[in-house]
Amino acid sequence: MSTKQQNFYESVQRNFDKAAKRTDLPKGLLDQIKVCNSIYQMNFPVKIGDDYKVIEAFRVQHSHHRMPTKGGIRYSHLVNQEEVMALAALMTYKCALVDVPFGGAKGGVAISTRDYTPEQLQQITRRYTIELIKKNMIGPSQDVPAPDYGTGPREMAWILDTYLTFKGGEEMDAAGCVTGKPANLYGIQGRTEATGRGVFYGTRELCNDERIMSKLGMSLGIKDKRLVIQGMGNVGSYTGMISQKEGGAIVVGVAEMEGTIVSDSNIDIEALLAYRQEHKTIIGFPGTKTLENQKDWVAIDCDILIPAALESQITEDNAHKVKAKIISEAANGPVTADAEDILSKNGVIIIPDMYINAGGVTVSYFEWLKNLSHVRFGRMDKRFNTNTYLQILETVERLTGKTISDMEKSILTKGGDEIDLVRSGLEETMINAYHSIMNVYINENVDNLRTAAFITAIRKVASDYISMGVFP
Ligand code: NAD
Repeated sequence: MSTKQQNFYESVQRNFDKAAKRTDLPKGLLDQIKVCNSIYQMNFPVKIGDDYKVIEAFRVQHSHHRMPTKGGIRYSHLVNQEEVMALAALMTYKCALVDVPFGGAKGGVAISTRDYTPEQLQQITRRYTIELIKKNMIGPSQDVPAPDYGTGPREMAWILDTYLTFKGGEEMDAAGCVTGKPANLYGIQGRTEATGRGVFYGTRELCNDERIMSKLGMSLGIKDKRLVIQGMGNVGSYTGMISQKEGGAIVVGVAEMEGTIVSDSNIDIEALLAYRQEHKTIIGFPGTKTLENQKDWVAIDCDILIPAALESQITEDNAHKVKAKIISEAANGPVTADAEDILSKNGVIIIPDMYINAGGVTVSYFEWLKNLSHVRFGRMDKRFNTNTYLQILETVERLTGKTISDMEKSILTKGGDEIDLVRSGLEETMINAYHSIMNVYINENVDNLRTAAFITAIRKVASDYISMGVFP
């Protein structure tokens, strides 16, 4: 195992222990909340060209206090058991924090996606799904995977199709076996952008918080804040685009595998993605300069640093270089516990991963609910709401003798489509969770937001165990 993965697992354990001490809960209960409940390591053969390759993969269910369990599937050559355990544990705390009624889980397949064709990736994905079916570790009431690093709607569609092949005839709710599916295939509008959108809502909420911003000596609001983003995949790209378009933030630096680019003005993320699609690199994007050392993205002068790639990117070796006053952990575990000690001393506020990237699982929950109810959100009430609002406006016109224009009427009477409802549900969730963390942070005088988030999550999981009568 590499030091990075070891750091990640140890960081999650250390952060848990630090928060657990502040909860006054019995040791046995805390031990039960901390451990992984089921760990499945598998090896399976897949025919690649004329050879067979043995693929190593994992599924870890961290907590069964709520079922089903839930968590993404990661494809990366760095995947190993401890990394998946750390990610599964974070899922438990994340779900508790944003009131998503699932236990935490995570999957990992130890492959680099660049080494395989789409056909081979499909074979691997289908075989991995079959292994999970064999062990009853997938299903709408058992364990529901979703996308993570290296996977997306395409892989979720393959998982769905494999599951339906085996279970579709007997299980009414089989489509709820996986989330993050394409919108046209039992998916939901707004899932692909959900994690990035959640990062935007959460970061915006902190930037609007007088208590934090005055402490940092920064102006209120996300508008005109300078961002640097590491990783232009699903999470990083949507975080950048939405922060620019809806928040008025300015992206002054972007780091990808091929290098790091900086600009004195705003790097248009949508245009950058189109450029990368065409040129297979972000280097050379008009109006930007390339840093000599790709790793110097951490040291770029900015207000908010957004690591959106992998864990253990900001460590004790580079934490002292950080100039940003806020780090928004879009990725899971990007800041090690040792790095956090240095950053805290330097007055940097870290918005913790378990909160800030919870938008993905929140909208996955909406997708799962949609699959169980077999109806699109808004289908039953949109027209009814429009007609009701119209009647109210007509009554106002009659009583006041004034006329409301057709254009104003069409805006005021618009009922919610699925995308509107998903976005407002996500916004509500991110805002509520922010304030529940802040209540603990401020009222209990906790030293950082991560510990406050852990305390909040641990208490919620503990209350389930206590209500079940498992612990006093
Ligand atoms: P992704 O595979 O879509 O994108 C990751 C990007 O990071 C890729 O473009 C990759 O080239 C880049 N990258 C990798 N190493 C890098 C490095 N050293 N420097 C610069 N760029 C690098 O993955 P994703 O789904 O966006 O996930 C990113 C992170 O967000 C992961 O930590 C994941 O666990 C977390 N996350 C994802 C979701 C989700 O819904 N996809 C939800 C919650 C958390």
